[in-house]
Amino acid sequence: MTPDSLHDRVVVLPYHADPLQQLARDLIRHHREQLPDLTGVTLLVDDPQVSGPLRRQLLDAATEQGFGGLVGLDIRPLRDWVQSFVPDTVRVCSAVSAELLLVEALRPYQHLFNQASPWLLASELLELFQALTLGEIGLPADCDSFIDRLQNAYGVRDSLRQTLGREATIVHTLWHAWHEQLRAQGLTDADSAHLLALRHSLEHLDTQHQLWLAIARPPAPAEQQWLQSLLQREQLHLYLQGQIATAPTGYPDQHLQPLAQRLALPATPPPTTAYVRLLESVFDQNDPPLRESARQLAEAAPESPARERLAVLLADNAEHEARAIDLQVRQWLLAGKTRIAIITENRRLARRVRALLERAGIQLADAAGWALSTTSAAAALERWLECLEEDFAHLPLLDLLKSPFVFADADAEQHRLATWRLEQDLIRHENIARNLNRYRAHAHDRRKRLANQADITPLLDLFDRLEAAAAPLLALRRGRHPAARWIAALQQSLQRLEMDRALEQDAAGSRLVQLLEKLAGGVDAGAFELAWGEFRTWLGRHLERTHFRPRPTQQRVRLLGLAQSQLQQFDALILAGAEQESLPGHPAISPFFNQQVRHELGLPQRETHYAERFYHIRRLLEAAPAVLVTARAEQDGEPVVISHWLEHLLTLHQQAWPDQSLLATPLAAQANAAEAFQVAHEPAVPLPSPSVQPVPVLEAGLLPPGFSPSDYQQLLDCPYQYYAARALQLKPPEEIREALSSADYGERVHRCLQALHTPVAGLPEPFDAPFEPANRAAAIARLEAISEAVFADVLADNFEHQAWLARWRAFIPGYLDWQIARRQGGWRVSQTELRCEGQLGAVAIRGRLDRIDRADEGQAILDYKTGRSLPKPAEVRSGEAIQLPFYALLQQQQAPEQPVLEVAYLHFDKADKPLKLNCSLTADELQPLGEAVGERLQTLVNQIEAGQGLPAWGDADTCNYCDMALLCRKPVWQT
Ligand code: SF4
Repeated sequence: MTPDSLHDRVVVLPYHADPLQQLARDLIRHHREQLPDLTGVTLLVDDPQVSGPLRRQLLDAATEQGFGGLVGLDIRPLRDWVQSFVPDTVRVCSAVSAELLLVEALRPYQHLFNQASPWLLASELLELFQALTLGEIGLPADCDSFIDRLQNAYGVRDSLRQTLGREATIVHTLWHAWHEQLRAQGLTDADSAHLLALRHSLEHLDTQHQLWLAIARPPAPAEQQWLQSLLQREQLHLYLQGQIATAPTGYPDQHLQPLAQRLALPATPPPTTAYVRLLESVFDQNDPPLRESARQLAEAAPESPARERLAVLLADNAEHEARAIDLQVRQWLLAGKTRIAIITENRRLARRVRALLERAGIQLADAAGWALSTTSAAAALERWLECLEEDFAHLPLLDLLKSPFVFADADAEQHRLATWRLEQDLIRHENIARNLNRYRAHAHDRRKRLANQADITPLLDLFDRLEAAAAPLLALRRGRHPAARWIAALQQSLQRLEMDRALEQDAAGSRLVQLLEKLAGGVDAGAFELAWGEFRTWLGRHLERTHFRPRPTQQRVRLLGLAQSQLQQFDALILAGAEQESLPGHPAISPFFNQQVRHELGLPQRETHYAERFYHIRRLLEAAPAVLVTARAEQDGEPVVISHWLEHLLTLHQQAWPDQSLLATPLAAQANAAEAFQVAHEPAVPLPSPSVQPVPVLEAGLLPPGFSPSDYQQLLDCPYQYYAARALQLKPPEEIREALSSADYGERVHRCLQALHTPVAGLPEPFDAPFEPANRAAAIARLEAISEAVFADVLADNFEHQAWLARWRAFIPGYLDWQIARRQGGWRVSQTELRCEGQLGAVAIRGRLDRIDRADEGQAILDYKTGRSLPKPAEVRSGEAIQLPFYALLQQQQAPEQPVLEVAYLHFDKADKPLKLNCSLTADELQPLGEAVGERLQTLVNQIEAGQGLPAWGDADTCNYCDMALLCRKPVWQT
């Protein structure tokens, strides 16, 4: 075959052409005689995104030839197709096994890569090994020769050889270890198998078989050779798109240069239109100075060739950019365009645009989709694995049980009831936070204790089923096990949870099931052993890397990445997010070898990345009759650098045609206008009226019967809080406390002191000897013993609670010193934890008094405080903090014959300081203060009953700890 006839079979299309349409028409015409049966013809395209549009083009072309359909035509990616030529004797290592195998191979060499994660290292190495294999770059058998080669490439002196040796040793050792592992397993890596298959296909391909290939990536050297052979055998038609230059002047031309050189393709003719000349100038690195280029362009075309064809939107920020894209797409749809593409590498922008368009009822066909790990199906799986890791902790367990994916076949009502009982009875009321056996035991206990006849069988059944589902995985939690066994155990576990069938019914769920099947099928070639943590990392990585693409009902608007847009043409397109960080973006930095060494070794370099990116960008600028390029000026308050090529385009255009701007100024203004955000079908919902400070009036009958001191204090601090919390009885669900809170600690201290002075069932006897210096040690010992008993249950639950007990024990000696002194002052403990009720006119009052002391002249009321803060004495004396005078009022009604001589707090604040009474009120102060506090309460109750509103007026301290803040919405009305 002559070079000319070889070139007859290679079609290089300019950027503005539609390669899929051209290929489809040529193929149909070429095989016209055998239509509609195209058996023996294979069409190879790399990206599955291209297959759909290509099929449509083929059908159109067949219809033009009078055929309504085609049969026998095989459309596949090159790599898939060629795989069928791998000899039967070769066992190919799957991608799943390759990663595991390399992690396994890395284990003995942990010392070479310090603390680096073997998973990350494996993924970097697999990329490197793939490039080495496909580039047919062999590493010498001995490491020294490899170091020599690198030393030459780096151009370093002998003194730096040792430093260099480390990098070379890692790569060399791991490369050989990896191949050793493959040999031991009788496997061939997928890339070597690919090269072998290419060679075999040349020997075994039916000589009548015809291949048609459209390719937009530079093929590996072995693939180039394969293409050349098939072209020479007249079994291949090859379609390329771009500019072939003898000496490329910019990145876009470099992309296909290696293949063009290999096939000795002639240079394509220089650009003929003014628009193409403008674009070529933008990407031409050898172009004359900008002013000169601009002058030449303007001379050749007085009118800007980009007008009506290319526009640039420079957005104020990311939201403005997204809104402009949303608006432009809607305008194009209204104008009747049906093939619209949004091409971006910025996933954050893509997500926002998707949300805006979906708001307007426009579905995007998103080629990237999203990571499987972000779907609700994967979240349910994750929660299940957390249940196993955290001993069925309440949070993952409740999330799991409320997910629609578990026990999907069970009686839904019964399952809901059992879950509700678990949450309300055991978790919230019994405060059981984890462990199936504890849940079970407390379900029985509770039933006995409350003489509750409720049937707990569904609850117990639920625990049994969870236990049975957990068994296959829990059996593997210790030690290392083959990856295949882990997956089998996980699948069995999901089956017992009845999750497998529910997942199948869900689009993302079925993708998850497929992933598990792929993992199960991919690891059977070897016995790669993983511990639990490694299994979790491995599974997590696959959930991250596997993408889920919901099937859209409409295909009019497509969301694509740069590479996914290859070979396609559109009615209109938006090249979005043209910032330097995304277009072209930065190549992933490999930890191995610098650019010079990569060049010497023949590995892909940074330039390869830029050539590919700029090739796609350049092509897209001609891939539609209407192109909008967008970029934003800032992100999260930080300035953003727009792409240099875009900046160059704008400057060049401005200099060439100063009075014809490329900027889409009207669109930018529209996108900033409020109307741009409205969509036509949106119902006209009136805006809610502005929030104001709430002042509700309490309906008759809702006033709670009686007041405790905290009710009264709440009413004073914020009447609205009282209204919501006490009258309406709204309260947030109590948090499950796995750790003791300061309130729990306070309660236990109260019990310790109560038991020291008065009998408490289930605790050691009170100290019955007099509190005097001679008995100090014995009294301390008794209080220590009581404290041990009071804290015993929480210590059993959580050893960290020792800290709370230790905190309390530090106060014990000081308390007894204070108690001895108090006794010497004539005071005896009379009652503890006394519940009292009383009456203030028509208002009922109640309270629990921590301690009543008596002396010959009268009584004293003490309130223990264990928190950090106390009311200020001035607030107590002014009646703003009402607790102490309120207690005096109550107790005076219980024992009117004994005057209340003193009311005070005993504050356990700092164990290293002597204890003393705080905010002490004497009999003289109590008399008027108690009366005032009592009268004010009666007045307030009268006013509420008369319909006076209860305003939200909490101060900063009250609002900081308010559970009703979400209800009163203070930040909204306060501004
Ligand atoms: S947030 Fe403040 S104003 Fe609102 S109810 Fe709570 S305490 Fe009152």
